[in-house]
Amino acid sequence: MNIALIAHDKKKDAIVAFCTEHKDTLAKHRLIATGTTGKKVSEKTGLKIRCFRSGPLGGDQEIGARIAQGKVDMVIFFRDPLTPQPHEPDVSALFRLSDVYEIPLASNLKTAEYFLRALKKDS
Ligand code: PGA
Repeated sequence: MNIALIAHDKKKDAIVAFCTEHKDTLAKHRLIATGTTGKKVSEKTGLKIRCFRSGPLGGDQEIGARIAQGKVDMVIFFRDPLTPQPHEPDVSALFRLSDVYEIPLASNLKTAEYFLRALKKDS
């Protein structure tokens, strides 16, 4: 599967912890990420991740484009619902495209845990 990883700044520690916990499962898939998220996760876990631009600089749009191209099967996006984001339109566009193409998108830890459980069952 092609899995996209994204986290807003206040959720970076959470996604690093999540990816560390599920490293063995995630390692069986192709991972892509927005710039800073991908850098942090790969540095802390050793997971191989293709990094795009940082979210505020277009990374969410790059991942959205890949969704439109049929190149993303799952999105794990730890969104910060309490902090205004300058690139909110890009984030909304990514969520919208996930719905257009019916790509499963986990926007918080609990949902992501469900997804990972499903992935483990499938493998
Ligand atoms: P980042 O982007 O991983 O480059 O911080 C995530 C985002 O805020 O959309």
